[in-house]
This record gives sequence, C-alpha cells and structure tokens, in this order.
Amino acid sequence: MRAMKIDTLPVEFTDEQKRYLEGFTTGLQISRVGRGLGGGAAKANAEPAGPDAAHVKAQDLALASGKKLADQEKFKRDEHPFDAYPRLKQQALTNAPPSPADNFRWRYYGLFYVAPAQDSYMCRLRIPNGILKHWQLAGLADLIEPLCGPFSHVTTRANLQVREIPPKNAVALIEGIQDLGLCSRGSGADNIRNVTGTPTAGIDPQELIDTREYAREWHFHILNDRSLYGLPRKFNVAFDGAGRIAVLEDTNDIAFAGVEVKDGFGVEPGVWFRLGIGGITGHKDFAKETGIIVKPADATKVADAIVRAFIDTGDRTNRLKARLKYVIDNIGMEKFLGLVEAKLGHALPRVPPEAMAPRPAFDRMAHIGVHKQKQDGLNWIGVALPLGKATCEQMRGLARIAADFGDGEIRLTVWQNLLISGVSDTNVELAVKAIEAIGLSITASNIRAGLIACTGNAGCKFAASDTKAHAAAIGDWCDGRIEVDTPLNIHLTGCHHSCAQHYISDIGLIAAKVPVGDSDDTVEGYHLFAGGGFGPDADIGHEVYHDLKAEDAPQTVEKLLKAYLAHRANPSETFLT
Ligand code: SF4
Repeated sequence: MRAMKIDTLPVEFTDEQKRYLEGFTTGLQISRVGRGLGGGAAKANAEPAGPDAAHVKAQDLALASGKKLADQEKFKRDEHPFDAYPRLKQQALTNAPPSPADNFRWRYYGLFYVAPAQDSYMCRLRIPNGILKHWQLAGLADLIEPLCGPFSHVTTRANLQVREIPPKNAVALIEGIQDLGLCSRGSGADNIRNVTGTPTAGIDPQELIDTREYAREWHFHILNDRSLYGLPRKFNVAFDGAGRIAVLEDTNDIAFAGVEVKDGFGVEPGVWFRLGIGGITGHKDFAKETGIIVKPADATKVADAIVRAFIDTGDRTNRLKARLKYVIDNIGMEKFLGLVEAKLGHALPRVPPEAMAPRPAFDRMAHIGVHKQKQDGLNWIGVALPLGKATCEQMRGLARIAADFGDGEIRLTVWQNLLISGVSDTNVELAVKAIEAIGLSITASNIRAGLIACTGNAGCKFAASDTKAHAAAIGDWCDGRIEVDTPLNIHLTGCHHSCAQHYISDIGLIAAKVPVGDSDDTVEGYHLFAGGGFGPDADIGHEVYHDLKAEDAPQTVEKLLKAYLAHRANPSETFLT
C-alpha cells in the first residue's frame, strides 16, 4: 500500500488524529495508537489482579482455625480466574482439556468441561429475567452452528446452555456471545448465577410489579464488581412479580417476592418485595421468611449486603456445608440479618405476616399456549420445547416469528420452555402455524407440560442416569395411556445437585446406580419421591420407591398417576394433599 501524505487530505484533523492516520496509512503501530485514542484493552487491565481482600480474609480465618481450605478455595487463591484469560486462550489454541483447577476456573467464564460424559465444554449463558431479543437468539444460532452442537437447552434458571464445544472453539464461543450483547461471565463456579424473574414481567394482567428493571440492575451490579465473584459457594437470586407463571423464587438463596403491604403496619402501604433467604431445595430447604420487606428500589443494595455478609461467614473448608442455608442454620437468622443490617448501616423494616395480602394465584399451565396480556389486543404464546431443547433451525425460526408477529422478545421460563410476547389477536393464528411449521407446538398434555429434566449423563459428569432420555420415555409411555386433568410436575434430576429440583415436584426422581441382584453390577435408575410442591403448596416430596430401575420408571409413574386419579377426593386435590 502506498502511503498517503496527511497534508493532502481534504479536511482539518487534530494532531492526534493525524498521528493515528499516519500510522494507518503506513501500516505502523496501529494498535498502540488506537489504544491512545481511547479504545481497547485498558479496562480489563484496570481490574485489580489477585483475589479480593474480603475473600482472602475469610480464607485466612479458616486457615487460622486449623482447618484445610477446600480445593476450590485454593484454586481461587492461587490464581484469580479473571487474571487467567490469556492462559485460557492459549489452552484453547492447543485444543487441550483443562486441568481440574482450570476446569473450575473456566467456569467463571461459563465454560464447564464435562468429561467423562463428553470430551468437550458446555457453556452456560446469563440472561437477566430470562428475556432476550429476537436477533440475539438468531445470532446465537448462527454462532453456535459451526462451533458446537447445533442446538441449545433452556435451563431451570430460565437461561440457555450450549454443548459439545471442542476446547479449540471455547474462546471463539464466549467472545461471540459477547458480540451478541449477551454474556456467560460468572454463570458457573462459586458465583451469583443467572438472575431469574417473572417471565411475563410487564405483560401479565395480575402482576404486582414488573421485575425486569430489578433483575437487570442486579445483573449489571454483580457483573461489574469483581469482589462479588468467588463466593464460598454458588448463589441464586430471583424476583417474583406475582404474575401467573411461577419463577420458584423460594428455591433461591435470595427470594424477592412482590407483595401488597396493607395500611396500618407502620410502613408505607403498597407494593414491596418480601424477603426470603437461604433456599436450596436440593438440601430440602425453601427460602426462609425473614419478616423483612424491601422497597423495590433498594433490592440491589439489600442483595449486595446479604452477599457480602455471606462472603464473611460462609464455610471455605467444607463444600457440602458452604451454601447460605448453612450459615443461617449455624448462627441463626436474627444474627445473620444483624450482619446484613450492619453492612447496610441501618435496620430493615419488618412486618407481621398479616400485613401482607396473599399472592395472586399461579396458573400452572400459563407457560403453554395463548394467553391475553394486560395490553389490550396482545397475547403471549407459550411454546413447548421437548425437555428444553431447540435446534439452531428452530432458534432462528422462533426469532423470526418473534420479530414478524410479536414484540421481538423471547422470554425463557424456569419450566424449560419459552414465550413469544406481544402477538396481536390478528396474528395469533399465523404465529401458531409458523411455530408448528418449525416442528414445535403450543400445546402439551398436563404430563408433558411439567416434564422437566436436567442434562443427565449424556452431558454432565455428575449424573448417574440419562435423565433427559428417561423423561422422554416417561412422557412417551404415559401420554395416551393416562389422561391427567390437573397440572402436574414430573422432574428428573441426575445427582444431588438437583438442578431439576426433584424434591418440589409432584413426582420427582433422583438418579442412582441401582444394584442388580446380588452382584456388584448396577444399572441406571432412580429413587422416586412424591408429594412435593412450591409457592403456597411448598413442600418436600417423600420417598416412595428406592432403587427403581430406569426401565421400570415409565410404568411406575403410570401406576402412581392412576392411583392418584382413583383415590383423590376431587380434581383440586394435589399429590401433596
Ligand atoms: Fe449435572 Fe447433577 Fe445438575 Fe443434573 S443435577 S445437570 S447431573 S449437576
């Protein structure tokens, strides 16, 4: 290329601009000059290196007490994952699998190496309130198709996961996700996970509060504060706006639930968030009521104080007892709340239960089919995704339908499906036909509408069974043989992490290796629980079958459902009652 003389250019440039163009036209020092003009890498470099002081202090206290740090704490202490991005890139170039320490660290970027289930990564995104734009879903399909498995799964945190990512494609994937205005940062390891919110926020005729701005504010707050990463253990936060679709906030470490507070209780009447903390249903506990109510505008501040109190007090030595629930069990709710209030610098308002009006009822089928929005003439359409899966072709199709017939948004739910919102009455029929044309449906039997499964051993190293395949077998066997006329949840989870929340479903199965006869051989199977519930029916299921072979699960579920239908007093009697 022949250099162009700057003084022959037709307009007036500043000296700095001229230096930049000089470099550009002569091919010299472009990146250095470019950074001088305000671009690029400065922000990442500005982050303080090493672990955050509050975390180190908590680790030091654990060590001083004579205990050994959990391995994951050592990994974090040795090298902060956000200081290790150049190594991640280098490793990706060689297509090498990560060491155990790096497999933990790369989860800070949303990457989980899932060997021996598969010799590849899984990547979990984060999508605040589960809402994304049509161009983001279509863009994600275009991005993943050449890089990994050509499909995505909707998760039980209203999020997306993609799988079968060869190590050499891992960095291209997470950078491509950021190009789409999405991200995967902090979606794994000891971090605050995807922020869930009511999927019908802003369009639900019965909601008390639109959760989107609160979920979004919390999302960006945690994304941009390095001291809020690397907690003693993972941490979940959810916002319920009291809409028709449950968001299962009471299964979270922090549950903000929209509530109408009545007059006469010493606080301003109106809509507040009631605060529950310490939920972890895999350990058989829902978020406990604190009696505290939070002004919606203060939700981020209060959540921040709770997380910082957890950073100080969480167990750094025993991973099994490291979640917030165990801090509360150990020191007591009042003492923990005192620590939170000390962080905030003031007391939080408390009201008795009678100050709060009951939550408007859920509709357990509102995530499937066509439903009227609060805006006249508009509807949301709940699309059934078989066990949460959509192919790239279907992702592009759904994006097109949302753009052509809806308001351009796609709303993911914790029920492993999605809604297309803002569809006018006149366009509903066309949109439904288009959904059918891409091989999906807006109807599902009561059995299939609530059939949920975690990844299982087809893609997760912790799983004892192939949960998704077995859930499909239960659906295939029971559909057509038995008609259930009430909403129903059947959840299959692959291990004690309970991603599919088996304890809170009508019928819940947790995977187990089931012994065969007197030999040491085992086959895939489950322990089966029944009678769990959520929201006003919150309860933990009870074990009905221990060591049930997977091949017997479909017939056993059929038998249970038939017994329920034969013995219930009326259709409103649930498994729980
Ligand atoms: Fe994996 Fe266990 Fe979660 Fe299932 S429940 S996805 S097996 S960690």
